Amino acid sequence: MGSRFDITVVAEDSIEGNAYIDMAVNEIERIEKLISSWDPTSQTSEVNRNAGIKPVKVGRELFNLIERAQGLSRLTDGAFDISYASMDKIWKFDGSMTSMPDEKAIESSVDKVGYGNIVLDKENSSVFLKLSGMKIGFGAIGKGYAADKAKELLIAKGVEAGIINASGDMSVWGSQPGGMDWKVALVNPLNKNKVFALLPVKNGAVVTSGDYEKYVTFNGVRYAHIIDPRTGYPATGIISATVFAPKAELADALATSIFVMGIKTGVDRVNQLPGVECILIDDKGSIHTSENVELEK
Ligand code: ADP
Ligand code: MG
Repeated sequence: MGSRFDITVVAEDSIEGNAYIDMAVNEIERIEKLISSWDPTSQTSEVNRNAGIKPVKVGRELFNLIERAQGLSRLTDGAFDISYASMDKIWKFDGSMTSMPDEKAIESSVDKVGYGNIVLDKENSSVFLKLSGMKIGFGAIGKGYAADKAKELLIAKGVEAGIINASGDMSVWGSQPGGMDWKVALVNPLNKNKVFALLPVKNGAVVTSGDYEKYVTFNGVRYAHIIDPRTGYPATGIISATVFAPKAELADALATSIFVMGIKTGVDRVNQLPGVECILIDDKGSIHTSENVELEK
């Protein structure tokens, strides 16, 4: 998936452990083949190629993933949208931009974006992107989904504890040998050498989205690399969003969309969701959390 995965399993010995890790790797590769927009032979690419032309029959797994993604779009009022992928890339976050793109260009950059134009036909298991030039992409949930699936597979094989870490999107189950909970360290992006919280995670997922080096500043406003699919403007105000949820797929989608929703709406939305918590850092370095998070110094 163009990103690093670290897999940890608890097993009797390293031979058994490595066998389990190989199974997880195969599962992640299987999912990549399904959801990759780069691989021209993937079902996702076929859907994209037929945008504005015709519905494409896809396997149940991809159909269900897209259906859940639409649910996440509704949950976030469109802040999360897998059809973001057709957005014209008019923002550059590599330091090459010297001024804001003009308003018209920003507006038209999202012409082909909108989850309402993804037509799902459950009976035929088909997906139709209504507008020609439309595209879907799983950049904001693919890693989380893969981490969940690898975890699910290993649990089914009898692995009692482990961590699937998809470049910071973590799916965790069981506990360390000896019974201690797994712990996740959170780093303040404004001071990367300092861990500001060490939190126990039992069974669930922890995902962090951060703008780190990827942002531009105009007139004193810091624009993050995550773009609001409704307006074409980059998110502002947040530099790091960590979400705890039962599943990495949900945590991944929420972490990305909280950037777009902003601190107040983001925290409010998380407070309405059972089993979901968040820790946000704003562009002044202040920390905001959902109701049930207690940070000890
Ligand atoms: P990272 O993988 O860097 O932690 P995220 O999980 O936050 O980042 O996902 C960012 C990626 O998600 C972007 O690179 C892009 O592929 C995709 N994306 C950006 N904005 C949106 C959005 N509003 N809705 C869905 N996907 C998005
Ligand atoms: Mg994400």
